[in-house]
Amino acid sequence: MSQMPPKTSAKELFRRIINVITFVDLPIRKKFVLFSFGALFWLAIISAIGLCTMFDMSAKSKQMVDNIWPQEKTANIVIRKLRGANISVHNMFILKDEKGIRANYRRAKGTLDDSTSYLNALLKGGQVIDYNRATGQLSEPYLVTQVRDADKRKEIEDAISKISNIGKLVDEISGMRLNSIKGGAAAGNAGLEDKITEYDLFTRDAVTVLNDYAITVGKAWNKFTNTMRLWFNIAIVAISFTFGFAALLSIVFGVFISRSLVRPIRAIIGQIKALSAGDVDLSKKLDVASKDELGLLSREFNKLMDTIGHVTSFKKVIEEDDSIEDIYMRLGRIFREALALDSCVIYEVSNSKNTMKIVYPPEAEGTELYCKRETQLDCDLCRAKRTGHSVSSVEYPDICKYYAEASEAAHVCVPIIVGGNVGGVVQFVCDRPELCQVNDLEKKIGRARQYITEAQPVLEAKRLMKTLKDSAFRDALTGLYNRRFLEESFENLIAGVLRRGTTLGLLMCDLDFFKQTNDQYGHDVGDMVLKETSNVIRKSVRSSDLVIRFGGEEFIVLLIDTKPDDSVMVAEKIRESIEATKVKITGGLVQKTISIGVSEFPVDTQNFWEAIKFADVALYKAKERGRNKVLRFAIDMWVGERY
Ligand code: GH3
Ligand code: MG
Ligand code: MG
Repeated sequence: MSQMPPKTSAKELFRRIINVITFVDLPIRKKFVLFSFGALFWLAIISAIGLCTMFDMSAKSKQMVDNIWPQEKTANIVIRKLRGANISVHNMFILKDEKGIRANYRRAKGTLDDSTSYLNALLKGGQVIDYNRATGQLSEPYLVTQVRDADKRKEIEDAISKISNIGKLVDEISGMRLNSIKGGAAAGNAGLEDKITEYDLFTRDAVTVLNDYAITVGKAWNKFTNTMRLWFNIAIVAISFTFGFAALLSIVFGVFISRSLVRPIRAIIGQIKALSAGDVDLSKKLDVASKDELGLLSREFNKLMDTIGHVTSFKKVIEEDDSIEDIYMRLGRIFREALALDSCVIYEVSNSKNTMKIVYPPEAEGTELYCKRETQLDCDLCRAKRTGHSVSSVEYPDICKYYAEASEAAHVCVPIIVGGNVGGVVQFVCDRPELCQVNDLEKKIGRARQYITEAQPVLEAKRLMKTLKDSAFRDALTGLYNRRFLEESFENLIAGVLRRGTTLGLLMCDLDFFKQTNDQYGHDVGDMVLKETSNVIRKSVRSSDLVIRFGGEEFIVLLIDTKPDDSVMVAEKIRESIEATKVKITGGLVQKTISIGVSEFPVDTQNFWEAIKFADVALYKAKERGRNKVLRFAIDMWVGERY
């Protein structure tokens, strides 16, 4: 079978591209910085286009104002001046007095000189001060820049030469007119009309040249306004397009960035809500692959859910565990295997005895592990037990003087709080300091604490159950098992005896004249005697045998797997021990005797309760026969119905 090559779908590719351009893997701060830079970049481009256009317009319009407008204006002024001169020349023709003719001659010549000087200003550049010789009015002076265009210069020079010719004609016309006035009618106006016609033709030519010039300049104006319009349009299109593109990008970026922020946050909120509602699926993970803070948050959240899931399932498991020992074993295994806290010891504290013992690892019970042995015999020597606080040599080396290891081996001891008291201590030891990174150790112990915290209420409940069970089956005064225990457990007991084919010896013991002790010394002394009696009986039998307080001052001893006839020997041993026991009381000693009836199951009967009855019958007989006696049941002692 050939293997399929890994396929990157178009969708996946698109997703990756979007991830890159929307900075998914960058830290959130960088995302926003880049986003702002992007916005600024586009703003700068739009501003640059706008500014360039405006600067260009400004430069062009300055050129217009400095060049084209003065040129056109000057051409128009000169045209107007030529027309003014024309009127003066015609006045010279009409007027009959010498003074009038001379005045018009001067005005015409002056006007023509002005025109020439204005046109020269165009050729050289300079100021134009327009002066109306008819009215004497001065116009606002303005500057003209030198005309550099060769064609235009030629036109201006042409106009100047034409005006010069016009000036000569004006001289001739003036001379002819003055002669005609001086010579009277005889001199006449011969040739004058031809001169005037010539003059008009020249003037028309000059005006035409200047008109052409003005039109050329006007064309430049047109060209300029067209260019302006074109530039405006280009700028509008460029700005609109750039703005549109930037807006589109910012929408795309905005949508993707906000989605990449909002999506994981919503997912985390959803999980937290579900968690607080208690219906969370701990196996459901957040799917955020980005490498920014949100990706980190999601991964940490998943880890947290993992831990919660693990701790929750741990709690469920230990709740169903049979015994406290199982819980210690499970805790120890989690510390070792799941958290890699290799060297850990769990101590169980007995507050009633003020001792503590190693419960994990179980094989270390009774030995000295990392702490001196005294701590087990007097648990208040253990600092964590005494204070109820964690004790860490990482923070304070040599914190605990009962820690027996080399001082560089770090240890952290965490108390287990059960029912408001320190019910145990978990000790974590780091034998090889080079492998113990402080942060790492603290992290692991932090997680271990979660398990300890979860285990605490379960340990408390189990301990309570155990105490309850104990109190139900034990006698409070003597600490012996009670009748209820016998009733609950006799079936297992006899089943074992029958299965093994052994014998169970039953000793029914009753203190002699106990009532007298009570009457003579009071109930407290009576209780002391009962306690001492129970101790003596317990010490007289094997630890596998069961001693039960059956009634007030009656005890049953069940001798498990006893040999035939051994029961009487044990009973005799008890009797003798009691007889020899002196109970110290204030102001003296009390000495008691005991009577014991003995029967054997299944030797005497197959019925357990009948065997007890037989032992009781034998006891009764022992009392009858003078007390402080051991009597083996014999069938002839039983005269009544079968039990
Ligand atoms: P004998 O058995 O030799 O016939 O005489 P006795 O005085 O022991 O007989 P009896 O069974 O009549 O007396 C038992 C007494 O034990 C009665 C009761 O006051 C006392 N007793 C029973 N339970 C307790 C107890 O818990 N504490 C004390 N101090 N006395 C108890
Ligand atoms: Mg008695
Ligand atoms: Mg009695």
